[in-house]
Amino acid sequence: MKGQVGFINDIQLYSLCDGPGIRSTVFLKGCLLNCRWCHNPEGNRRYPQVFPYQTNCNDCGDCLEACPAQAIEMPEPCRPRILRERCIDCLQCAEVCGEGAMVVWGRMVSVEEVMEEVQADKPFYRHSGGGMTLSGGEPLAQPEFARAIMAAAKARGISTALDTCGCAAWEVVEGILEVTDLVLLDLKHMDPHAHREHCGASNRIILENAARIAALDMPLRLRIPLIPGFNDSEENLVRTAEFIGGLCRNGREYEVDILPYHPYAGAKYRIFGLDYPFPEGEGYPEDRLSGIVDLFVSRDLTVTVGG
Ligand code: SF4
Ligand code: SF4
Repeated sequence: MKGQVGFINDIQLYSLCDGPGIRSTVFLKGCLLNCRWCHNPEGNRRYPQVFPYQTNCNDCGDCLEACPAQAIEMPEPCRPRILRERCIDCLQCAEVCGEGAMVVWGRMVSVEEVMEEVQADKPFYRHSGGGMTLSGGEPLAQPEFARAIMAAAKARGISTALDTCGCAAWEVVEGILEVTDLVLLDLKHMDPHAHREHCGASNRIILENAARIAALDMPLRLRIPLIPGFNDSEENLVRTAEFIGGLCRNGREYEVDILPYHPYAGAKYRIFGLDYPFPEGEGYPEDRLSGIVDLFVSRDLTVTVGG
């Protein structure tokens, strides 16, 4: 493998999310937060990990025998669970499972390999105003690899977007902004204690980075994952809208993407044998959504639901 390498989960082609036009989204492994509602637990660590795909299990027990860390339990037939505190990510269970019921998430790739896939769709980007989005996990969990991918895309004339939680030192953020055309920045909560409790870290550095990115006067979209009972109180939403309004300057307006909690993650957690702390099958209540959109629009912000 030539050149700089890193770990990705996937490259999604022909995406209409995560930026304008038709895009290729590269999902890097690793995250800097630990959000309780995370829809992609398979992306949290920087290196490959095994997750059970319980529906494929035939209860043969080979994985339990192969595991050197006694990290697999089978509380019911065909329902293997990995005990993360014991698992050493050796991947041996995936090697011995002949049913595809132990799935490795993540693969090592070079920047060049990423570019081969992304560049193939360059005509689509050009005609649709699209490009490549780096997402995750969290791209800044692998900052040098992320920057190298963005630089390689820019060198090939491909527009770049960074989908980030923003929870990284400014030197790291600043380095990748040099090769970024659009930033998609998550704002999860305005209260540092609530943010720490539900996301694993304070929001202080995120809000500081948001202000610094805005001061550079570069294209920025603020994204708000709307999580019931966590960040959808009127008080928090007003504070969020006022914070975004305060970033707007020099006639530049920052658009807001509201990303309502959706229930699909619950099924994924169940298949993976993980507990999910939200009710499965219930999406964000439609009747509350329109009032929340109005709250932002009434403060002269342009809002998109989804994104
Ligand atoms: S996960 Fe695979 S190896 Fe383990 S018991 Fe199920 S089928 Fe057998
Ligand atoms: S990855 Fe290794 S340590 Fe973890 S559950 Fe599988 S065999 Fe056990």
